[in-house]
Amino acid sequence: MANLFGYFSNDIGIDLGTANTLVYLKDKGIVLREPSVVALDTVTRKVRAVGDEAKRMLGRTPGNITAIRPMKDGVIADFDVTEAMLRYFIQKASQSFRAPPRVVIAIPSGITAVEKRAVMDSATHAGARKVITIPEPMAAAIGVGLPIDEPAANMIVDIGGGTTEIAIISLNGIVFSKSIRVAGDELDAAIIGYMKRAYNLLIGERTAEEIKMRIGSAYPLDEELSMEVKGRDSVAGLPKTIHITSQEVREALSDTIASIVDAVRTTLERCPPELSADLVDRGFVMAGGGSLIRGIDRLLSDKTGLPVTVADDPLSAVANGTGAVLNDLSWLMQNA
Ligand code: ADP
Ligand code: MG
Repeated sequence: MANLFGYFSNDIGIDLGTANTLVYLKDKGIVLREPSVVALDTVTRKVRAVGDEAKRMLGRTPGNITAIRPMKDGVIADFDVTEAMLRYFIQKASQSFRAPPRVVIAIPSGITAVEKRAVMDSATHAGARKVITIPEPMAAAIGVGLPIDEPAANMIVDIGGGTTEIAIISLNGIVFSKSIRVAGDELDAAIIGYMKRAYNLLIGERTAEEIKMRIGSAYPLDEELSMEVKGRDSVAGLPKTIHITSQEVREALSDTIASIVDAVRTTLERCPPELSADLVDRGFVMAGGGSLIRGIDRLLSDKTGLPVTVADDPLSAVANGTGAVLNDLSWLMQNA
């Protein structure tokens, strides 16, 4: 809708995730959803591709191209590459803008002040008129509709690619948060390790991720699943196909999932008693792609004794949260 000045509303929200970046356009919703991956020329360091196109190159690049994930561990591994990625996404999403956008960026809560500054500078270089950051678990909590302004405990567990972020929020502020570098990527790595140990089968990250999504679970399934997996035999060196079951994959994932359960329990142990009391009834909400692992909500509920719900669209929670605050930037100025 055109405003008084004749241009279109052009504020955007960004979920700068370790695995995926999403852009939310005010009044429009999520307009971009691409992997946080950049393909670089190894010699000139020039950016060859960003997002979907770069992810397709992961593990398949010739010697002169390398595909990297600059946010992989929830910290910025490479400032220049992160900036190039942000610029690409901001420009792609704001093509139709006639004036530079204001940008709200959700950043991992474990990020340092220097990294936060770097993200803000990158967004400014990428053409933002004003940049505001918001801690990712706060955006997730808003995105899933938790009443974070109430004087009561609101707890969110966001399992992403590189990090799991857990936070307890009350009165618009984070009371306690914890970020661990154990999430979807570690689950993929656990599957790679298992296939090698159990079958001498070498598989890549993308195959491991596919196995996790198709038959991965954290809790016994009513109907167990199975699938064929192709890779390279580490002894014979030739391509090979094997058959695996969801029981095996669950076993492969169990240690990594136990670390996530531990982190959730530690957070609960640190929670002030009044807020703990609130959580008995309110429980917590899960977001992030990792919350889609079958049965993880049930396992966490068993291990904590709390009610657990998975957000309706867990992969969009953070972006939706940035979108919600775009409508109320004054709220953010006061609370972020
Ligand atoms: P981030 O916020 O760190 O960018 P996301 O919330 O986008 O991460 O989640 C990405 C992670 O979620 C990846 O590790 C991906 O493999 C995992 N994921 C996505 N969908 C599923 C699914 N259906 N089952 C299990 N894991 C999933
Ligand atoms: Mg995320």
